[in-house]
Formats: sequence, C-alpha cells, structure tokens
Amino acid sequence: MPSEPNPEINHVLEFPGGYTRSTGPVIGRFLTELRAGRIVGVRTAAGKVLVPPLEYDPATGEPTLTTPERTAPARDPVLSHDFVEVGPAGTVREWTWVGEPRKNHPLDRPFAWALIRLDAAHTSLVHAVDAGTVKAMRTGMRVWPRWRHDRVGSITDVECFVPEVTTIVANVRTEYTVTPGAALARYLDALTREVFLAGRCPTCDGVYVPYRLSCPQCGSVIEEELEVGPAGTVTTFAINNLPDPRAPQVPFVSAYILLDGADTPIIALLAEVPPERVTEGLRVRAVFEGGTVKWFAPEREA
Ligand SMILES: [Zn+2]
Repeated sequence: MPSEPNPEINHVLEFPGGYTRSTGPVIGRFLTELRAGRIVGVRTAAGKVLVPPLEYDPATGEPTLTTPERTAPARDPVLSHDFVEVGPAGTVREWTWVGEPRKNHPLDRPFAWALIRLDAAHTSLVHAVDAGTVKAMRTGMRVWPRWRHDRVGSITDVECFVPEVTTIVANVRTEYTVTPGAALARYLDALTREVFLAGRCPTCDGVYVPYRLSCPQCGSVIEEELEVGPAGTVTTFAINNLPDPRAPQVPFVSAYILLDGADTPIIALLAEVPPERVTEGLRVRAVFEGGTVKWFAPEREA
C-alpha cells in the first residue's frame, strides 16, 4: 500500500502574550513618531535620509546616530540632526495589485503593495495603497498616509496610503427660464414648423442662424429673413462620455453643424450613428420632435 504523499499537518507557532523585544533608539524613535502622527527617517553621514530608518548605514556600516543621548523625543521635541521628518506625502515607485486580499492583509478590499518614496527621503517604504481600482494605480502617482486614530507606535499606525486628491465632483445645477427676445421668439416659432430661420446681413452678406436682428460681424441691422437647412454638414464634433439628460445614451456626440445656406454653425446633438462613425464633413439632417429639434442624424442615401 503506497503511503499518502505530502501529508499536511497544521502547525501554530505562538508566543503566548506576544514576543517582547526592545526597539533600540532608531526604530524606537521611528515608532514613537508614528504614534504622534509623523514619519521620520535617519540621516547618514553622507547625507542620505533612510526611511524606514536603520541603525547602521548600509553603504558604510557606520552607526547612523551621532548623538544618541539626544534621540528621545520626550527630551528633544525638536528633531535632532540625525532624524529628519519626511513626507507625509510620497511618490509610488513600484507597485503590485492584490486583487484578493488575504486574512492578514491590511485592507479587506483590493489594494496595491507599493514602494513609496516619501518626500525628502532617499529610500522607499513598502506600504499598502488604497486606490479603489487597479486602473487608479500608476507609477509616479502621489499618495498620502491615512492615519489610524488609535495609534500605538507601529507601522500599521498608517492604515494605508491613499491617492492625492486630483478631482472633485461639484454639484452643478442651475434652473433658469429664458425669455426670448423678438428675434429668438421668431426663431423658436419657426422651429415648431420645422423651419430654421436665418437672417442675412445687408452689408457683409453673411447668413446667420439663429435668426437675429443685428449682424454679429459688422453690427448692421438685419431685415432679410430666409430659411436654411434642415440638412447640413458636420464641421467639428465631440464625443462625450459624461451622461446628459438630453442625450439618449453615453457616449453621445455633440457637433457643430453648418446648415445648408448658413455661414455660421449651430451646436446640436448628433444621434442615430455610432460615435466612431462620425466624421468632419458628415452630411446630417435635423430630426424634429415636439416642436423643436430632437437631434441631427446622418442623411440617408436616396
Ligand atoms: Zn454684417
């Protein structure tokens, strides 16, 4: 009878009550500063700032502390020559995404392990970055610590780092009522009959839509009315990825459309065509609904 391969036995190694060790002056100062909500590094003889601090300069093996009697923060609230406050912000140098955190990971949701170079430091610190999604992570991104309120003097006093604030969502909503002047009232009235009303300047011959009473170029009084469109040409356009209540879906296209016979374009929604099929020069036609322009759509080939 063959023996069972690779028998598994669960072991637990534990010091009941925890394993107590002394920190020494360098790590002790680092942890004490963390408890106070500050991050410090130690400066080497060559002027490099090591974070986390080390007791010996890895380059020379020399002790990093030159004034050991002055290192206790209680006696020396001002940082000694050896200790340097860094950060609290830093830059992500390298990172890896943890899509499925384990039980003893610092966060219970996906996060990144990152090498973070805190400002004023010459070495990088490993810590978690709570960026929400992997798409929000990038090398070179700026991060700030998120501190615990119940700090005890541990590297986990920094719960994690979080991305610098680069965008805000401002609630913007303005309700207003337009009282159309005589010219705009005529223009809107014409739209109910599915007609674009324009005006021709007697001086510079420009045809302007919407209809207006004076020339935007030369200021002459406009008296001649004429109809333009309802077909036209796309002169430029934008693909919008933010929802708009007037648009059927996201993404949607807004376009400048030069109506046939007009010299100035109007801006309008462009629909019934995939955004990637829209081009400058596309021939379009107005679609009317409810007494106004619903949107423009590509002209169907006859
Ligand atoms: Zn004019």
